[in-house]
Amino acid sequence: MIEAARPPEAGGLLTIDLGALVANWRALGARAGGAECAAVIKADAYGVGIEPAATALGRAGCRTFFVALLSEAARVRAACPAATVYVLNGLPPGTGATFRDLGLRPVLGSAEEIAEWGEGPAALHVDTGMNRLGLRPEDVGPLPFRPALLMTHLVAAEEPENPLNRRQIEAFARVRDAFPGVPASLANSSGIFLDVPADLVRPGYALYGGNPTPGRPNPMRPVVRVEARVIQVREAAVGETVGYNGQWTAGRPSRIATISVGYADGYPRSASATDGKALAGTPSGEAIVAGRRCPFAGRVSMDLIAVDVTSLPDGAVRRGDRVTLIGDELDLDEVARRAGTIGYEILTSLGRRYARTYAGG
Ligand SMILES: *Cc1c(COP(=O)(O)O)cnc(C)c1O
Repeated sequence: MIEAARPPEAGGLLTIDLGALVANWRALGARAGGAECAAVIKADAYGVGIEPAATALGRAGCRTFFVALLSEAARVRAACPAATVYVLNGLPPGTGATFRDLGLRPVLGSAEEIAEWGEGPAALHVDTGMNRLGLRPEDVGPLPFRPALLMTHLVAAEEPENPLNRRQIEAFARVRDAFPGVPASLANSSGIFLDVPADLVRPGYALYGGNPTPGRPNPMRPVVRVEARVIQVREAAVGETVGYNGQWTAGRPSRIATISVGYADGYPRSASATDGKALAGTPSGEAIVAGRRCPFAGRVSMDLIAVDVTSLPDGAVRRGDRVTLIGDELDLDEVARRAGTIGYEILTSLGRRYARTYAGG
């Protein structure tokens, strides 16, 4: 396990609740009815760490993992020697021997990949609308092997009313009919909540606490908590600006707490709080300081964020105090919204600079 700098040497504190990760996996499995619940742990398990995530989920009974890259699959294999590991990005040219040596399975999505793979357990990716990877249904012909898994990927599963879902499910059902007895998989996190019968589900985001049902209450437990320390507290007079390019102006005598996390830690610069955004009503970042939400003041810089703590009582915030950037009522999806992005990007940007603590493993 990677031991980054320990507090107080580190500026940011990242706490990952492996107990919540496992609880989310169990809850999604229960929601998926009789389907096997796999775990998508690509991109370093969405930033939380591929080894700790694979180990915790493997111990809880997860038997199948999906990653994007062969390098990620090798790490899962080392952590979970008996697991089934699929590589979503397919078979890079010339890597068949490595796949076989490590007992890994490519997700094959083109005639070239199928020809190069030859035989052996692999998934077949059928493209029913995403148009990125996978064979079109009409191009699925006789194969040199029997797929271990037939899969497709939904374009807009988090929008249950989107007619694309129905179209993809129907197109996939026709391909499934051509492969009787082969397990089929189409649901990501949000897809599980569409209640489409399948043999295996592939949640990622929801495992890590992201809301798979946007616009409705989040059924998942939070996994990631991000905190920073207050480096100093200072006053800004009316008309003074805070941060690069003077983009935030104090409209009242203000107190500013400067905290020790910035975009170099993966906190999005797009959460900056500027006069222009305030005027336009565009949301910007917030932190929880001394139990209360406080807005950012000015640009998020590389290593620092300034927080407007004027609304807090005198002395409520001091040098060295911890401030919450993700956690409590400031959940991942809201943080993403305030930065104009999605929680997936927030998670996968979590930097290596944090002091990481794994809890509940
Ligand atoms: C990333 C990915 C998933 C997981 O999606 P989430 O929305 O994170 O649950 C499932 N299937 C495929 C093919 C993916 O690329």
